[in-house]
Formats: sequence, structure tokens, C-alpha cells
Amino acid sequence: METENPSTLTPQQAWDQLIAGNRRFASGTSSHPHLDEARRSQLTGGQNPSAVIIACSDSRVPVELIFDAGLGDVFVVRTAGPILGESVMGSISFAVNALEVPLVIVLSHESCGAVAASVNALEAGSIPDDHRRVLVERVSPSILMARAEGKKEVFEFERRHAAEVASQLMQRMPRLRSKVTSGEVGVVAARYLLEDGLVEAVAGHGIDVGPELL
Ligand SMILES: [Zn+2]
Repeated sequence: METENPSTLTPQQAWDQLIAGNRRFASGTSSHPHLDEARRSQLTGGQNPSAVIIACSDSRVPVELIFDAGLGDVFVVRTAGPILGESVMGSISFAVNALEVPLVIVLSHESCGAVAASVNALEAGSIPDDHRRVLVERVSPSILMARAEGKKEVFEFERRHAAEVASQLMQRMPRLRSKVTSGEVGVVAARYLLEDGLVEAVAGHGIDVGPELL
């Protein structure tokens, strides 16, 4: 994160900066920015992150590391899936409306257990009887939508899930939607690939992230 003042970033600049960090991570040239005593001291007065990132809790997807970000750079919400709920949307609302981040990223990933569990539940017709049930309930619609389009591969389900969570945010959070319409905020659905360390953009709202991978 080269910038000194993320609040001045456009959604596109915030995305470009995080992707540049991801490319450093993937190529083994992470700069590990903003981890020193000076940064800690600077942040005691407040935070000014460049993005809120909604990602899976999977231990192989440590968000700051894969974007080569440091202290104060990104506001992260993680649940398995990821899935949405009131607590998650409250955290996103805080980032967008109080911290005024210019970018929202929904990040799924390769080999996601929550997606696999949902595929299994749909195929076996059985739902877990513990709290994993909520994961299956909230990931399965993404898989059903992908299947309705003829998609069969797990990577397609993972991409679709990120895109569907991003679309749900747009539908369920009117203030976020209006900020996207006005160009203040961009929303990106993306997927992280475990082996090569790359983040691929799946779809964007109010931001150009290249061709959609849907
Ligand atoms: Zn996962």
C-alpha cells in the first residue's frame, strides 16, 4: 500500500492498489508494508482503510497477507463461506458509511469447504443438524443459481457465490447501492486461488475489473 491517504482513493485506485499487492504476494515479492512502530503510532488516532473485504474464514485465506497489506489498510469481515447476516452487514455498513471506504470486496476461494458442504447437501439431500446448517442455507442458493445456468464445476460455484453475495449487498443495503450509483464506492466479487496465490476478479459494480467470469 504505497498511498499515505487512502481516503482520497477512487474505487478503481483502491482496487488497483490491492491487486498490485496481491501480485507481489503471488510472485513472492511481498513488501510487508505498514507493520512498524511508526505505523502503529500513526494509527492510534484513527483508521482510514481503503476497502472492506468480506472473505471466508478458511485458514488458507489470510486477507492482509494475500493482498500484501498491513495495519490500518483493510477492514476485514470473515465468516465461513463467506455468508451474510445482520452482524456481517452491520460491519460492512460501518466500513462504508462511517469509515467511508471506497471499495467493497467479496472474496470466495478455491477449495472452499462451505461451498463443498453445500454441494454435498444438495446432492445427498441432507442438511447438517448443527450450526453448519446456516452455511448450507446461505451458500446453496448460489449453487442452485449456477446450476440453473448449466454450470457444473466447483470453481464456477465458488465464483458464482462471490458474485451472489456481492449482488445481495447491492440489493439489501440501499445506502451502499446509492454510493455505487454515485461512483463513491465500487463493489467487486473475487475469488482467491490457493496454489498460485492470485485473486481473480469475477464481477464488478461501479468499477471496471475486466471481463466477468460468470
Ligand atoms: Zn471457504
